[in-house]
Amino acid sequence: MSPSDHCIFCKIAAGAIPSCKVYEDDELFAFHDIKPWAPVHFLIIPKVHIPSLAQVGPKHEALLGRMMVLAPQLALAQGCNPYPEGGFRVMANTGAEGGQDVHHLHIHVMGGPRPWLKG
Ligand code: AMP
Ligand code: ZN
Repeated sequence: MSPSDHCIFCKIAAGAIPSCKVYEDDELFAFHDIKPWAPVHFLIIPKVHIPSLAQVGPKHEALLGRMMVLAPQLALAQGCNPYPEGGFRVMANTGAEGGQDVHHLHIHVMGGPRPWLKG
């Protein structure tokens, strides 16, 4: 069995576990966080199983670049206000001390009017 057989985000990306989908293409999947901190809070993940940012290398440069370019597009589409008065936060928790709970690489994208629940 591969790690992805036990991975909740692999299952979400495959459609085996339901999610509130924001975006999908052949490499990436985005969906609303189940416990949002902010009025807008979604996650962008690669479909391929990478445990965290600690495992990325040169071969992932294009994939990570696509995730970062997608973030502002989806942020606006999901209701974040425009920069600079609005904006959004991008966060990649990495490892136990980085506060990572789900070990499939993901970036949080959070925005919308303050106050937020956290952060
Ligand atoms: P992290 O601490 O960065 O690993 O955060 C994982 C995030 O995934 C948390 O904000 C959770 O609320 C979110 N999460 C966990 N399970 C699901 C799920 N089934 N659907 C949507 N979001 C989830
Ligand atoms: Zn996975």
